[in-house]
Amino acid sequence: MNVEETCEKIFLHYGTDPQILKAIEELGECVSELSRYLRTKDSMIMESLRWEVADACIMLTQMRFLLGPDQVDSAIHAKLARTLARMEREVITFFGE
Ligand SMILES: [Mg+2]
Repeated sequence: MNVEETCEKIFLHYGTDPQILKAIEELGECVSELSRYLRTKDSMIMESLRWEVADACIMLTQMRFLLGPDQVDSAIHAKLARTLARMEREVITFFGE
């Protein structure tokens, strides 16, 4: 069973509302750890940060399942394309055409 299939299985087992609450909790923990890293630049917290990023990824994969993987993927592609276009405009602005 791959990561997506495992996340789908967990989501279906626990249900929508509990997993949304869990996503809020885990994303909050990840934000806190990222903030702690920026404040301290302490390389010793990299391992705990890695675990919190993993928790966040697991919960976001479940939210992707909740919202429709194809629709979320479409939104991801649209946002990445927009960012690449902005980066291209920044290069043109900096170096000229
Ligand atoms: Mg956590």
